[in-house]
Amino acid sequence: MIIDGKKIAQEILLYLKDEVQKLDTKPTIAVIIVGQNPSSKIYVNLKQKKAIELGMNSIVIEMQKDTTQKELEDKIDELNQNPEINAILVQLPLPKHLDTYKIIEKIDPIKDVDGFHPQNVGRLSIGLEPYSTSCTPKGVIRLLDAYNIDIESKNIVIIGRSNIVGKPLASMLLARNATVTVAHSKTLNIRAITQRADIVIAAVGSAHLIDSDWIKDKAVVIDVGISKSPEGKLLGDVDFESVKDKASYITPVPGGVGPMTIAMLLENTLHLYNLQKEQK
Ligand code: NAP
Repeated sequence: MIIDGKKIAQEILLYLKDEVQKLDTKPTIAVIIVGQNPSSKIYVNLKQKKAIELGMNSIVIEMQKDTTQKELEDKIDELNQNPEINAILVQLPLPKHLDTYKIIEKIDPIKDVDGFHPQNVGRLSIGLEPYSTSCTPKGVIRLLDAYNIDIESKNIVIIGRSNIVGKPLASMLLARNATVTVAHSKTLNIRAITQRADIVIAAVGSAHLIDSDWIKDKAVVIDVGISKSPEGKLLGDVDFESVKDKASYITPVPGGVGPMTIAMLLENTLHLYNLQKEQK
C-alpha cells in the first residue's frame, strides 16, 4: 500500500486552519534566510505560503550572505525578545563562515520551531516533553500512526544519523518502544541489517540506493531522502518500482514524507504559540 503523505498532511493542515481561526491573535513564525541559496529560497517561500493559508503570520527576514555571526545572533535576540513572534526558524544550511550550532543555541527554546535547540533535543533524548521536536522525524511517526502501523517492539532500521532526521527519529522511536538500529556511511553490510527490519527508514540523500534486495517481505519502507536527477526530477533513496511489490507499505517521493515536514512545522508553530500564551 502506498502511504499518501500529501493526503495526511492536508488533513492536518485543515485541522490547524480551524484551530487558528478560533484564536484571538495570529500565531507568527519568523524565518531567517542568509544568502541566496535557491533551494533554501524555494523552501522558505513554501513555508510562508502555507503559514499564510492557515491564517498565521509569516515574516521572512532576508540577510546578506556576508552577514556576521554577531549580526545574526543580534537578530535572533531581537526576535526572542519580541512577544509578537512565536516561532523562529533559521533556514539551513548557513554560509560556511557562520557557526550553525551557536546560532541554533541562541534561539529561545520555547520559540525553537524546528526543535533543534540542545535543550529540546536533550529533553527528547531523556524522555521529557520538549517544547518542540524536529519536523521531519515527527512527520514520519505521524505517517506510521495514520496508517496504524505498529511501532512498539518492532525492529526498525534508520539509515542516516543526522541531527535533523536520523538521531531525533531514533529517540522518538525508542520512546515508542521500538528496537532501533541507526546505520550510517561507516556501517558495514547495511543490507544484511535492513533485511531483518520490520520498518526501514531511509534518510541518506543517495538516489535509489535501496532496492528490493535490502528489504524483507512485507516490511514497511519510509523514504525521507530527496535527490535531484540531472533532469531535475525528485528522487528518493528507495528505488520505488523495485521495492513497491515487496513492501507492505511504502512512501513515494514526492508525496510521502515531504508534505508532512511542513505540516509539522506549522503544528509546532501553533503549539509554541499556545505554550507561550499559557506562560503569560
Ligand atoms: P545528511 O545530514 O547529509 O545525513 C545523511 C546521512 O546519511 C549521514 O548520517 C550519512 O552518514 C548517511 N549516509 C551517507 N551515505 C550513506 C551510505 N552510502 N550508506 C549509509 N548511510 C549513508 O542529510 P539529512 O539532512 O539527514 O537528510 C537526509 C536526506 O533526507 C536528504 O536527501 C535530504 O534532502 C532529505 N530530507 C528530506 C526532508 C523531507 O521533508 N522529506 C527533510 C529533511 C531531509 P555519516 O553520518 O557517516 O556521514
